Amino acid sequence: MNLRFECQPGCTACCDQEGFVYLTEDDLIKAAAFVGMTARAFEKKYVYRTANSLRLRKPPEKQCPFLESHGCSIHPAKPTQCRTFPFWPELVENVTAWKLTKRYCPGIGKGPLIQIGTAMEIAEEQRRAYPDDYE
Ligand code: SF4
Repeated sequence: MNLRFECQPGCTACCDQEGFVYLTEDDLIKAAAFVGMTARAFEKKYVYRTANSLRLRKPPEKQCPFLESHGCSIHPAKPTQCRTFPFWPELVENVTAWKLTKRYCPGIGKGPLIQIGTAMEIAEEQRRAYPDDYE
């Protein structure tokens, strides 16, 4: 399949989709450092930890505590799942899912042709980061 993608300036549609933002332990450390907090304090304030996952707590009426009107306020330290989108295994390995994602992501189908090897490498990073989701 031919993959074209270019994130569109000013768009935050993927951040507004219903769902959770999952973190790796490394994501937590990087995001905490970016906002000038210890990992422990960051976790206490922003993270919900279960036996096998970490996710950001959702504020009322938003999907993510770091989404501002201008975009992601922790962009340089954003979690892996945000950084790898839309090159998630379930999207790059399924042409129908990729095309359906275009309904809310205006960057799909635009911009340069993405090498399939590059897309798969990013998808593998996503798979490695959240192994429980891809068993
Ligand atoms: S929905 Fe697509 S174009 Fe919009 S911010 Fe997300 S990745 Fe970029």
